[in-house]
Amino acid sequence: MDLAFSDDDLAFRDEVRAFVKENLPADISESVRQGRAIDKPDIQRWQRILFDQGWAAPGWPVEYGGTGWNATRRYIFDEAMSEFDTPETVPFGLLMVGPLIYTFGTDAQKERFLPKILNGEEWWCQGYSEPGAGSDLASLQTKAVLDGDHYVVNGTKTWNSSAHIADWTFTLVRTSSEGKQQEGISFLLIDMKTPGIDPNPIVSIDGGHHFNMTYYTDVRVPAENRIGEENKGWAYAKYLLGHERQSISEVGLSKQRLRRLKSIAGEERSDGESLMDDKSFAKKVAEAEVQLTSHEYLNLRFLAEEAAGRPIGAEVSLLKIRGTEIRQQLTELTIEALGYYAAPFELEQLTEGWNEPSIGPEYAAAQMPQYLFSRAATIYGGSNEIQRNIIAKMVLGL
Ligand SMILES: Cc1cc2nc3c(=O)[nH]c(=O)nc-3n(C[C@H](O)[C@H](O)[C@H](O)COP(=O)(O)OP(=O)(O)OC[C@H]3O[C@@H](n4cnc5c(N)ncnc54)[C@H](O)[C@@H]3O)c2cc1C
Repeated sequence: MDLAFSDDDLAFRDEVRAFVKENLPADISESVRQGRAIDKPDIQRWQRILFDQGWAAPGWPVEYGGTGWNATRRYIFDEAMSEFDTPETVPFGLLMVGPLIYTFGTDAQKERFLPKILNGEEWWCQGYSEPGAGSDLASLQTKAVLDGDHYVVNGTKTWNSSAHIADWTFTLVRTSSEGKQQEGISFLLIDMKTPGIDPNPIVSIDGGHHFNMTYYTDVRVPAENRIGEENKGWAYAKYLLGHERQSISEVGLSKQRLRRLKSIAGEERSDGESLMDDKSFAKKVAEAEVQLTSHEYLNLRFLAEEAAGRPIGAEVSLLKIRGTEIRQQLTELTIEALGYYAAPFELEQLTEGWNEPSIGPEYAAAQMPQYLFSRAATIYGGSNEIQRNIIAKMVLGL
């Protein structure tokens, strides 16, 4: 296995770096640097810039408007993006439902949905979980009953990230109660403006409104918005979860966090010296960096497998477990580095236009919300306990 980059790959990396440096709007990168929530119009603005460059969808094939890059190029691109303060990709359209639509959708669905995912015009959310169906997703109860050429959908979805600002949702619904639970599920694309959809905010521990409890009452969905066959939705849902888990490995994001941690620890004092010169703290940072480097090489091994045409299977769960644990470890160390200054919880400081003096250094304000939100990383995308079960069964054969 050859893990070194070719000269062409290195030239490509220079090209990406130069482009981002030149084109990333300064106000967006400043907001990312400050740890402010990046709102929808700003993310759309950056997506549009990438779209105009032809780089909107690094993972998509050329025929659907993607770059057609191989796994190595995609990795280099993500890396180069993370070196700058670029906003994180919102996964639901580009990384999740887009690939599902071009793989299993009809021509009409491809034509209708893919262009607006690419240019960022339409935002998606994911309607899988329900109050009684999380890890045990197949027990979902939201019902869709065929009435002429429409399904009528009734039920409740929860933890719906971005449902309050999304234009469309991809949703799992129960279309049959016969046989095994998995065999009665269908996959629908639903316009969030349809009468009867009511997203209600759930405020998370970091103080943000990221997700929602969404009620569906007699929501009429054209049957042509079903992906694939009726009652075969479980297969599409699983395909999409594989994509989700791969994208949660978060090497780029963790590298960004490691750099931030080192820079904060370089500013903070311990016995009059920089905290980075404190041997016991520096050892913890080094340990986290070793973990991250080994995780990065694990990620590269997966890419090499993919590049060699070998499909990735259940082992992708390893990436999700390690990636999220490392992300949490880095946020914990950042809180430790800040000491008392991690404690003030002034969310207003992270809003645009705040001009009051901050308690402690300016860089401290975003760290506690980020630490708190990172607790969720080992839950979403399928909890890490469930990922361990998958590895035990499917990889180790236990
Ligand atoms: C920040 C965030 C964003 C999310 N966004 C979305 C979204 O946009 N769309 C969406 O559909 N869902 C979303 N989710 C929901 C997420 O997928 C579920 O929270 C997750 O699948 C776990 O389900 P649950 O919360 O019902 O917990 P449960 O399934 O009730 O699990 C509770 C605990 O029991 C453990 N457990 C359960 N079963 C087993 C088992 N068999 N073996 C060992 N341990 C087990 C779990 O690991 C967990 O620790 C989001 C969640 C979070 C936290």
